[in-house]
Amino acid sequence: MAEAANRTETFTHKLRVAYFSMEIALENDIPTYSGGLGVLAGDSLRAAADIGVPMVAVTLVSRAGYFRQQIDPQGRQIEHPDDWDPARYATRLQATVALELEDRQVWVGGWLYVLSSLVDGGVPVLLLDTDLPVNDPRDRDITHHLYGGDETCRMKQEVVLGVGGIAMLQALGFKLMGYHMNEGHSAFLTLALLQRYAYPSEDLRPGESPYDLPRVRELCTFTTHTPVETSHDKFDYELVRRIYGDLLDPGTVKLLAGEDKLNMTRLALNLSEYVNGVAKRHAEVSRQMFPGYAVHAVTNGVHAATWTSTSIAKVYDQHVPGWCHEPELLSRADRIPDDMLWAAHQAAKQALVDTVRELTGVALNPDLPILGLARRMTAYKRADLLFTDLARLKSLAGDRPFQIVMAGKAHPKDAAGKQLIEVLHAHMRDLAGVIPMAFLPDYDMALALLMVSGSDVWLNTPLRPLEASGTSGMKAAFNGVPQLSVLDGWWVEGCLEGVTGWAVGDDSPTANGHDAVALYDKLGQVVLPLWHDDRPGWVAVMKGAISKNAAYFNSHRMMRRYATEAYLR
Ligand SMILES: *Cc1c(COP(=O)(O)O)cnc(C)c1O
Repeated sequence: MAEAANRTETFTHKLRVAYFSMEIALENDIPTYSGGLGVLAGDSLRAAADIGVPMVAVTLVSRAGYFRQQIDPQGRQIEHPDDWDPARYATRLQATVALELEDRQVWVGGWLYVLSSLVDGGVPVLLLDTDLPVNDPRDRDITHHLYGGDETCRMKQEVVLGVGGIAMLQALGFKLMGYHMNEGHSAFLTLALLQRYAYPSEDLRPGESPYDLPRVRELCTFTTHTPVETSHDKFDYELVRRIYGDLLDPGTVKLLAGEDKLNMTRLALNLSEYVNGVAKRHAEVSRQMFPGYAVHAVTNGVHAATWTSTSIAKVYDQHVPGWCHEPELLSRADRIPDDMLWAAHQAAKQALVDTVRELTGVALNPDLPILGLARRMTAYKRADLLFTDLARLKSLAGDRPFQIVMAGKAHPKDAAGKQLIEVLHAHMRDLAGVIPMAFLPDYDMALALLMVSGSDVWLNTPLRPLEASGTSGMKAAFNGVPQLSVLDGWWVEGCLEGVTGWAVGDDSPTANGHDAVALYDKLGQVVLPLWHDDRPGWVAVMKGAISKNAAYFNSHRMMRRYATEAYLR
């Protein structure tokens, strides 16, 4: 990192959009992310850096990471802290700011990490940190564990992120044109802004509210990321008062955030002029969940250079030069000679096969197809759908052999998710000798790239309509790996049957109980025959995934849309 880039002053002359996210996947060795939300945040900022959208990001330092996953021989998940040293990657911020939490003063410091860019010095990322010697020992670990601790801890983290973040940006002298809340965790920032822009009391008539709602709304953008109701944070007002005191006037807050509980999503919805879901279907579902709000759709995308394997990238460099900066050029993927694309895919596959052997001892055959599946292990993602009928699955493999590679973490408090990992391991034992299968521990960005590029088919079988977008299938598309997926999230837009990949079941917006049968039918009648019996036909689908999915579902397109429709509206 150049000396100048170590200081926030380099970044404060220019008007920026402040992007708030509880998690950001900055790079593989910095474990400040748990999954899709963090990877999306990272890809958004990487694209912003590439195309020169002026941004500054705010997140927590999460020194103990999310967790490192180990799997014991029974298939049980064991969680270890995933400590990292911010001093190795980032420089200390010159400022600290004070918050009052639970009647104690809590100082918030932080770190500057710079996402590099070819355009203008990169995107600064502020990693907020309460682990300072001046703080009470009880407060030093507020920012340690991503999504860790109890409800009180979560609430404190969200106050540090939203309110601490706003104070830190101001202390460092950032000039801001707007605020983007990536999910509701940071919605307390709206309260800090209401306070900042409140009318002085001497200007008010009796009974008049001091808060300038339209002004705050004008500044704010909110992206909601899930239709799963329990994933929207709600805090008891009692807890809110104990931790954060009487923020604003309680009547106004209830009006904005809900009568019974403080609902972070409501708060963000009510104080953001621009609100969006992360795929068209998800925006429709969100409009039903939140009647009365105009929920736009900006379908997610992934970062081209980050999610393309080296062997495939070499082929693009040769045949689609400029693809990293203009991923839409990949619409010309038809130019790539078939044998070249296939050889690059086989190289990526060999890398996956090698890693599988190294991590699990399982020997896969690079000349047979691999079905890849990696998800957050939680009930609605249904990572076990493929194993609904083991006899049917075995008979499919008897006709045309295939192999399976899986990965995914369950949140430490998600008992059903952890159970799912055990069930998958039990299936693996049942299928031993018939279908070679591996579960790779500790799913992270590096494993994700290996899997989405080294598989032949990327599988996604969530319960409709709960998958807001899904992004790993987009990563697969960048590597010429077609998706076989339930029609939910981005796949409703991305699937051209037999051209970019295949659908599991029909496109009714809710589940109908037939997905497992539909999955076996599609695998046995279409996908496996094409792979085994018609290589040119298969490579045509690989090219369809590249030219019609990767060319569109990338974060360059996504950030241009945020810039023109949300930030510059
Ligand atoms: C891309 C990614 C995800 C999200 O994938 P989905 O398809 O949205 O489930 C989760 N974890 C990691 C490590 C990823 O790279």
